[in-house]
Amino acid sequence: MTDILDGHDPLAIERAAGLLRQGDLVVFPTETVYGLGADAADALAVARIFELKKRPRFDPLIVHIGEKAWLRALALRIPAAAEELIERFWPGPLTIILEKREAIPDIVTAGLPTVAIRMPSHPVALEMIRAFGSPVAAPSANPFGYVSPTRASHVTEMFKGKVPLILDGGAAAFGIESTIVSIREGKVVAHRHGAVSIEELERVVGPINEKPAGGTTEAPGELPYHYAPHTRLVIVDSAEEITIGNSGFLSFGQPESPPKSRHLRVLSQRSDLREAAAHFFSHLIELDRANVEVIYAERLPETGLGRAMMDRLKKASRRYAATHH
Ligand code: AMP
Ligand code: MG
Repeated sequence: MTDILDGHDPLAIERAAGLLRQGDLVVFPTETVYGLGADAADALAVARIFELKKRPRFDPLIVHIGEKAWLRALALRIPAAAEELIERFWPGPLTIILEKREAIPDIVTAGLPTVAIRMPSHPVALEMIRAFGSPVAAPSANPFGYVSPTRASHVTEMFKGKVPLILDGGAAAFGIESTIVSIREGKVVAHRHGAVSIEELERVVGPINEKPAGGTTEAPGELPYHYAPHTRLVIVDSAEEITIGNSGFLSFGQPESPPKSRHLRVLSQRSDLREAAAHFFSHLIELDRANVEVIYAERLPETGLGRAMMDRLKKASRRYAATHH
């Protein structure tokens, strides 16, 4: 059952905040497009977003905040240029990529050491995030491959019966995604063109660099900034195939007998894909840091979130094969 409530009603806002608190997803309006939101601190809730969107791969999410002051809890450093942009464009459709704090689950950033943050200006979005009291991770509320929704009715067609609540906040004022920037060596770099124009940004911070190769045409999973382990990675059908002891084993479920590997990480004791996805990046990063010769990763079923995880594993295993043979 999906409730569609007027987002300007305080009771609807309370409902939304309550759902987020219990790990559920809420569709909410922003000034760019409608978002599919989850508690940014809850890895399992965030895994649900990917599951519902049926994304074949993971894509880092934008973390939405309700007050500028919340930024300090998410970002390690706030460069001067970021301060200036925030002062001028927040709340509003500008997303800033900053070095992330440890507390943000790795699934939110798809394993990256940075996090994309913005403070939306839509009153319903702000009310909901403030009522919830903590950051909300959200991509656009559309299944993979569909256009982004700019009205509640667009979402209804796609997600009816799949999310408990859709907050209706009318037509999105901008109707296109936020502009995304990062700061490199003090200079602002444009990652995605969006609702704030480059000219507007330049009036505040001076000349802006384009992110070399990339932009909006590449599929997000193809982008070079995606996390990939440094350690050689081999996909195996079972722990029996493990030959090197100085290795890590990324196991889907609890192995029946102890594997040969020095380091074992179990994605989900009960072999649940959503739980596995919630742990996927953090386990992979831990194994990558364990100083092993090779990471063995157990093949996952390629359905639902399993496809997104296998996409990453295949890419990691191919990368090694391409550079070391
Ligand atoms: P959206 O589809 O509007 O939710 O925006 C998500 C997009 O933000 C991703 O596809 C990435 O292009 C970008 N993004 C999010 N986090 C990061 C990050 N840490 N580094 C670079 N780009 C990011
Ligand atoms: Mg999107």
